[in-house]
Amino acid sequence: MGRDNCIFCQIIDKKISAELVYEDDELAAFRDINPQAPEHILIVPKQHIAKLSEMQDDEMPLIGKMYALAKKIAKENHFDETGYRLVLNEGKNGGQTIFHIHVHLLAGRRLMWPPG
Ligand code: AMP
Ligand code: ZN
Repeated sequence: MGRDNCIFCQIIDKKISAELVYEDDELAAFRDINPQAPEHILIVPKQHIAKLSEMQDDEMPLIGKMYALAKKIAKENHFDETGYRLVLNEGKNGGQTIFHIHVHLLAGRRLMWPPG
């Protein structure tokens, strides 16, 4: 599974549409098609990396950049005033369904814990 058959790469390459909320050279953020909270945004690297466990050590700074972007989007949209959740689902037991690494930014309601 590489760039060609990856739905998030197709969104990044503008081959399929999504509601993009941010993009720069390295990262993109767009609204989740099946939101699990009033606000549900996905933050992805433009580089196709399937999952955290496959990331190389020299790619790890991207994780910090994804979290920094989540923080920025949360602040701009005032999610920080009431709180929000960042989630990275890893592999089968983590509930990962799209194998292009992404961080979920969830906000707009009180979220439950523990997760199901
Ligand atoms: P995960 O289960 O962590 O792999 O999350 C994948 C997320 O991608 C799910 O929340 C889906 O609703 C979302 N998703 C799948 N296809 C699209 C799409 N075309 N545009 C936006 N979000 C999508
Ligand atoms: Zn991809």
